[in-house]
Amino acid sequence: MKFFDTHTHLDYLSQDLNLSISQLVEQSKQANVERILVVAIFAKNFDKVTGCSRVEPNNIVYGLGLHPLYIAEHQLSDLDLLEKRLAEKDPSCTAIAEIGLEKAVESVATAEMWKKQCEFLEAQLAFAKRFDLPVNLHSRKSHDALAPFLRKAQLAKTGVVHGFAGSYEQAKRFVDLGYKIGIGGTITYQRANKTREAIRKLPLESLILETDAPDMPAFGFQGQPNRPERLNVSFHSLCELRTESPELIAETIWQTSEKLFWLKD
Ligand SMILES: [Zn+2]
Repeated sequence: MKFFDTHTHLDYLSQDLNLSISQLVEQSKQANVERILVVAIFAKNFDKVTGCSRVEPNNIVYGLGLHPLYIAEHQLSDLDLLEKRLAEKDPSCTAIAEIGLEKAVESVATAEMWKKQCEFLEAQLAFAKRFDLPVNLHSRKSHDALAPFLRKAQLAKTGVVHGFAGSYEQAKRFVDLGYKIGIGGTITYQRANKTREAIRKLPLESLILETDAPDMPAFGFQGQPNRPERLNVSFHSLCELRTESPELIAETIWQTSEKLFWLKD
């Protein structure tokens, strides 16, 4: 079995653990995590994110984008920089990431900040369309607001709603629009009934795995930086929820992830 961690902040994990990107990749490989997508959060870390894939091009691809949680910091000139970087068409840049909407944090959900979030999301979805890239989406307490943006954008490559937490109905709406559902540490918590039920019922072909390392630690690892090798913990919970064999689940998810985010070969 091999795995693709489809959402990480490896530049931050490297800092937190004081380990090099190559050391992190080596540890991930020991847990059969063969591929990793590293996502950006603001213009300031575009170079670091790009650098991760430069040192380990056979295992790491990256995405560039402006994260909704940092909306107050983003400038219009950051969108210009993003556009310029995407226009370089680096084959290792396989996503617009991390972008989306955030309603769970009050300071970014004021009328003014919400409007700015929506504008930055629309601009980045337009880049996804123009540069023919999939998107890696953040959505907290904002699934109902996000869906119409995706419907309107009509992206050929679609993308994933990462670290999904929510109901079956909310997930199904994204799946019906052609999007995948990113499964992280949430499903390892027994109390996450609604999300676990959604993941149990969705088509296997609509699911992919991720850690969001160093964020979203799995059950049993609270308070520690999350890392790609912990993908196994979520995979184990996923296998308990599904009726298919672990081999079929792993193989299907590998294929789906490759098709979505490994556009290099
Ligand atoms: Zn993230």
